[in-house]
Order: sequence, then structure tokens, then C-alpha cells
Amino acid sequence: RASNEKRFLFQSILGQGSFGTVMKAKDKVTGDLVAIKIVKTHSSLLDRILKRRSKELAEAHQEVDMLLKLSHKNVLHMESYYEFRVKLKEVGLCIVTEYCSNGNLQQYLSSNDSKPGRDDCMNWYLQLTSGLAYIHSKGIVHRDLKPPNILITSSNDLKIADVGLAKAVWDLKTESNEAPSDTSFLHYMSSITGTPCYMAPEVWEEHYNTSSDVFSLALIFIMIREAPSPLLPVGKWNERTDSIGLLLYRYPDSRLEEPVSLFSPSFSVSDQKEKLLFNKMLQYDYHKRPTLQEIMTEIEDMRRPRPQELETTSDED
Ligand code: ATP
Ligand code: MG
Ligand code: MG
Repeated sequence: RASNEKRFLFQSILGQGSFGTVMKAKDKVTGDLVAIKIVKTHSSLLDRILKRRSKELAEAHQEVDMLLKLSHKNVLHMESYYEFRVKLKEVGLCIVTEYCSNGNLQQYLSSNDSKPGRDDCMNWYLQLTSGLAYIHSKGIVHRDLKPPNILITSSNDLKIADVGLAKAVWDLKTESNEAPSDTSFLHYMSSITGTPCYMAPEVWEEHYNTSSDVFSLALIFIMIREAPSPLLPVGKWNERTDSIGLLLYRYPDSRLEEPVSLFSPSFSVSDQKEKLLFNKMLQYDYHKRPTLQEIMTEIEDMRRPRPQELETTSDED
């Protein structure tokens, strides 16, 4: 364990998460750059943690062990982890992952000169769908899909990050695996996952399932497609999405056939097929949302050149 701590040369802060800091570091053994997420237990829970530390950490380790087995080109790869101790009482985990030099999707979409073209959008849709399908195939629900949790590599490929950690830390912070109470759940959602922007309506009722990730995925697709645009600045649009899932949950009248219309009049996914797909993915009734396989097929289909783009041949005459 101690050798692990000496193995990495910390260079700078990459991000500040809700439960820790992510540092850029150099692996002295391989020479590679890595990202290290440092997850510390809350000191306000010190007494509880002291009593239950080994069990909670064991559970977190179990979760992390599962993540170590994941391997997909669109899922951030975890390389290793190690436990560390600060002073006598604080315990935490260092989670070592591959380094993504182009930052996160939120940062990308907020910068003005980075609107991806249609083909790039389709490619990113496919990458995210494929990564998420893989995660689901391993029995994991992400629960916290949002642009800051999607990282961009030096070759502009997307990697889904933060997989399973929400649950791992949930286990660390609560005393047991029992279903959380309403208030603790909401507290959890706001403290751990940050803004409830991307949450599906059923999440407000604590029914989180794989289709809830599909709902979040649709919002991310729309962001990729629409932002940044003068009509739809990322910040303002975020405020709008803040309430989409909640709106659908609270107000039956808003459970339209076309949830996309809940955005704003300025919202304009020009492609009808895309709009149709997003509408299906954002349905209130999660049973009706398409599976990732269906989404994949739809995107592949959209990716094919449209008839008017095909060169017309004289054969048709
Ligand atoms: P939150 O719970 O608020 O989502 P978190 O503590 O789970 O945050 P991450 O989402 O994993 O932390 O990372 C926080 C930020 O750090 C990311 O948005 C990203 O900007 C940066 N970051 C994380 N991992 C990497 C990485 N492997 N390469 C480059 N940057 C990274
Ligand atoms: Mg995160
Ligand atoms: Mg997180």
C-alpha cells in the first residue's frame, strides 16, 4: 500500500467533485499520466466511521473491485486503487484511472467554438449508448449520467466516468444498505450527484432503473446537439433541464407525447428522426422508453446518408 502512495507524482487538480478531488498525476512506473480520484470519508461522521470503518470500506472496496473488471472503450478505465490514511482517523480511497486530456463534456459544450457537426454528434451518441449498454450488461445502473461525468480523450472519444462510485460512496455514507428514507434520498441526490438536472421523473420516487439512465442520456444527446448556440446557452439550458424530470413527475399535464416540447420554443432539433428518438427516450413511463439496443439501431439508421444525400443514379429511371 505504501509503495502505491509513492508511485504517483501529483501534478495538478483536474476537478473538484462532491466527495473528493481528482488530481492529475504521473505514474512513475509506467511513465503514463493518470487521474486519481481521492475519496475521503466525511469527518463529521467520524465517530460512526470509526466504529464501522472496516465494514464500510470493505463494501466500497467490493464496489471498486467490480469497477476494476469493467473494460470498454467508452467507459473510463480504472487501473487500480489504494487505501490511505490521513492522521489517525480519516480513511479514504485513491482511485487511479486513465487520464483524459480534453476535459469533460460540460466544459467542451460551454466553450463557444466547439459545436460538433451532425456526424460527430451521431458518433458521440453511439459511443455513449455503447458504453452505457456495456455498463448495464454488467448489472450496473449509472445513476449520475451528466456532461461533467463524461470525459473527452485526446482523440476526442468519450468515456463515461463516475461509474458505480455514487453507490460506493452511498454505502460509505449511510450506515447500511437499506433503502434510504425520502429525506435522506433527496439529501443524497443533492449532495452527491450535485444538480438534479438529469434525473428521470421516477427517480423522484426512488425507482431508479436502467431506463432512468436512458432518460439522462437523452438530455445529454440534446445538449450535444444543441449547445452551444446563441439561442440555447449551456447555462440557461441547464436551468431548463433542472426541472424536466421533476416537471414530468409533479405535473400530469406535462406528461405529453412529446416531452421535447417542454424545453423552449427556441429548441430545435432539426432532424425529425432525432426528435422522435429523444421523445421516446424522455417518456414519463419508463417502460415505454427504448432499450439501448433499439437506440443504437436508430442511431445507426440515422447515420446512414439520407436519400437526398445519395447520388442519384440513372438506374432508378
Ligand atoms: P461528482 O460526484 O460531483 O460528479 P466526482 O467526485 O464524482 O464528482 P468525477 O466526476 O469523477 O468526480 O470528476 C470530477 C471532474 O474531474 C470531472 O468532471 C473532470 O473534469 C475531472 N476528471 C475526473 N476524472 C478525470 C480523468 N480521468 N481525466 C481527466 N479529468 C478528469
Ligand atoms: Mg462526477
Ligand atoms: Mg460522482
